[in-house]
Amino acid sequence: MTRILVINSGSSSIKYQLFDMDAGQVLASGAVERIGEAESLLRHRSHGGDNTGERCHNHHIADHREGLAQIGALLRESGTLTELSQLAAIGHRVVHGGEHFREPVLIDASVVERIQDMIPLAPLHNPANLMGIEVALQQAPETPQVAVFDTAFHQSIPEPAWRYALPDRLYREQRVRRYGFHGTSHAYVARQAAAMLGKPHESTRLITLHLGNGASAAAIAGGNSIDTSMGMTPLEGLIMGTRCGDIDPAIPFYLSRATGMDYPEIESLLNRDSGLRGICGANDMREIHRLADAGDSQAQLALDMYCYRIKKYIGAYYAALGSLDAVVFTGGIGENDARVRAQCCAGMEALGIEPDAGKNTAGNGAFSMHSSRSQVSLLVIPTNEELEIARQTMHCIRHSG
Ligand code: ADP
Repeated sequence: MTRILVINSGSSSIKYQLFDMDAGQVLASGAVERIGEAESLLRHRSHGGDNTGERCHNHHIADHREGLAQIGALLRESGTLTELSQLAAIGHRVVHGGEHFREPVLIDASVVERIQDMIPLAPLHNPANLMGIEVALQQAPETPQVAVFDTAFHQSIPEPAWRYALPDRLYREQRVRRYGFHGTSHAYVARQAAAMLGKPHESTRLITLHLGNGASAAAIAGGNSIDTSMGMTPLEGLIMGTRCGDIDPAIPFYLSRATGMDYPEIESLLNRDSGLRGICGANDMREIHRLADAGDSQAQLALDMYCYRIKKYIGAYYAALGSLDAVVFTGGIGENDARVRAQCCAGMEALGIEPDAGKNTAGNGAFSMHSSRSQVSLLVIPTNEELEIARQTMHCIRHSG
């Protein structure tokens, strides 16, 4: 059995999934959350066979080292794994790979150093990802470990699309450029979409919309990202739960002059108090629908702005691609919210985009929601970033060394 453990290590959590790659099955999944707090939370689920079941524990877990040790103990107790050394590999999600990492890489000391170099570009994420890597290297030193980067898929974007119109030295000296994120999700749904369309991946032209708490759009030609809406940081692009997305870059300077706020305050305002929350007070899309349905005009405005921004990106990426096979919706909102999908696709018949209201509301799992007249397919595809990380990890260990 080829077992791969996927680890997504955040600043106060470790999420994990254990795959049997031969059977294409999830054996176990779970998370340690609130690491370092008095009451940490440990959730573990074993899938399939006699071991199916969920366990929850509440007790203090001091740090990531203890968190991973407890995950190892739970995997042993539930009979899915006797030793971490039974793993064919561990795949780690790493948010920022900068320009250096264009694909997944087997982790060694020099890779750890490079991920550290990227900390200024992703000060919240990369240190947390590194903590997961460091404890996993200590606890499973013999097991090949692979880093899979959120940015890597977008390294194929051509230079005119990833450059900002800033002095050249800012790119050369400070690495200021578009990197893009959610790459694992965009890559996964793009491959699924090609399969659903029955076309070779190499000849499909797609717009993928990852709409979760964070949100981004990507233009994908022949399996390669050619543009994406998130930029040097995840703040740019679509309107998100709490992030503003595209705004006039002069607004922070104006705010600083007009209100006396300092830059850390403005940075927090744009990342945590803007987006849907900033407009209507709520950032959960289900709550926003409830409010809008009850007549809350701010919630309705937030919805209208959210969908309008997405539609604008569909138009821009359609032009960038030159032709379009499909628009793909994924992420918590993209997969579940028929009203948002309908509004994003409305009024684009002249572009060959024609949703079918019945298919849009009745679908489940992966499905198509375009009318028979539509020239562009409209697809809903549940993302599976963990499976994509497991596949890329497997590919990496088979093709390296
Ligand atoms: P994350 O980016 O944290 O992984 P998700 O992809 O889970 O987030 O997406 C979270 C968003 O999905 C929230 O705004 C939530 O309201 C929305 N969502 C989840 N289920 C539904 C649903 N049935 N209808 C509308 N929105 C939903």
